[in-house]
Amino acid sequence: MKNSLALCLASLIIMLPVVTNAQVDSASRQPNIVFIFADDLGIGDTGVYGSTIIDTPNIDALAASGVRFTQGYVSHPVCSPSRAGLLTGRYQQRHGWEFNPAGRDRDNGLALDQVTIADKLGERGYATGMIGKWHLGQQEQHHPMSRGFDEYFGVLAGASQFFETLPEGGAYAGTRGAPVNRSAVNAVYRGRERVQVDEYLTDVFTEEAVSFIDRHANEPFFLYLSHTTPHTPLQATKPYLDRYGHVQDMATRVYAAMVSSLDDSVGEVVEKLKEIGQYENTLIALLSDNGCAGYIDNACSNLNFAGFKRYHQEGGIRIPFLLSWPNELPSNKLYDKPVISLDLMSTFTAAAGDRVETEDSVNLLPYIKGERSDDPHEFLFWRAGPTQAIRDQRWKLIKYKLTDFTEADLNDTGRLDPPTGGWATGTPLGLITLLYDLQNDPQESNNVAAQYPDIVQRLEAEHARWNDELPPPDETILPAIRSTLTDVDGKTVQLIF
Ligand code: CA
Repeated sequence: MKNSLALCLASLIIMLPVVTNAQVDSASRQPNIVFIFADDLGIGDTGVYGSTIIDTPNIDALAASGVRFTQGYVSHPVCSPSRAGLLTGRYQQRHGWEFNPAGRDRDNGLALDQVTIADKLGERGYATGMIGKWHLGQQEQHHPMSRGFDEYFGVLAGASQFFETLPEGGAYAGTRGAPVNRSAVNAVYRGRERVQVDEYLTDVFTEEAVSFIDRHANEPFFLYLSHTTPHTPLQATKPYLDRYGHVQDMATRVYAAMVSSLDDSVGEVVEKLKEIGQYENTLIALLSDNGCAGYIDNACSNLNFAGFKRYHQEGGIRIPFLLSWPNELPSNKLYDKPVISLDLMSTFTAAAGDRVETEDSVNLLPYIKGERSDDPHEFLFWRAGPTQAIRDQRWKLIKYKLTDFTEADLNDTGRLDPPTGGWATGTPLGLITLLYDLQNDPQESNNVAAQYPDIVQRLEAEHARWNDELPPPDETILPAIRSTLTDVDGKTVQLIF
């Protein structure tokens, strides 16, 4: 007996030094929050969501360590408004950022009276750092460091070159893929100072992310790692391209290589978190800002969902959506109810111990943990000028503007040239009404509006109720100038974004 007690004590003494300071801190301090945002990554472009081309072992491991959402959405199918909604936890139409600024973010940005996730986490004592694509205004007052971030390194614009000259063994694809020098508009900034970057941009963002984590290892931090990949220009370096030598189509190969660079970034961030003893105490979110683009030569995948970036069909707005937090959340969990990027505001601040409530943002943590079994959202809503969409747990209603423009009216970027003052929000030729049973027809292949007039009417009324809360679409900060055409259900419609 005495011997076994002594043995027990001895083994305790041997075990004690294994509990490091970092692990003690991990149990007592607020969790870190790392939000990794991909740009134009399709829901079918990672292994865990079903890609048959692209290998994403690190993203797959992240999913396995936490929760994978099968019905995760963004609030807009293009970059800038999607980010405006996410960072404020409010539908971006509430604060007038309804459309892509399309270059006008040099002079305009996210409304200054809006509060961002970084503002809120900063108030809660977090070190806040942003790395990567901002796309919410380039003037001093709109800069990330004026919107809640202590530190910034990245591209203020909506996209940039991944390299300025083609490196040995590198490749590019697509009509605007050839590397050129970055202009002042798509330059890289450290803080508010322009810097020269010669290495592959995604790798540089990853190095900066790892450095941020290292420098803030001893305090709770919020890192917003907003990659510009795999958005155009399609450009990749040899180490990533070498993984896809078997892929014949060049656009597909370069795109896959770009997603691999994102995947390596996820791996390095996780590795660094483990190294500082904070992996279990870190809530990591990974999302894409919209579905993958239909204009990159079939190089990407939104699975078999209809539409792409720019569209309000599922391919434009249903995105990869992962949450991992080993200390608090179950692993290997699938969550099937509809959620939206707007929920990150409440979810992140709840994790930080002091939840922010907005009209639109739902704390997802109790749903994931099984403490709540109701629906996080009764409805999700979308609006982009005349385009309207709403879904409940089963049905989705979309209304697109009917048009007499034809394919011949599209310019060489595949868009319509906007009239002076932007696109009017009126619908002189009316709207097409599309109703889909997402439960049985997630591909949105069968418009059943005519069969279910009562459901159409109910969803129209709900959308009108939400729409009445918003400023009208012609009172946005910037009018819409981006637009294209598509055919749906035998009609040509005008997508405005
Ligand atoms: Ca995007």
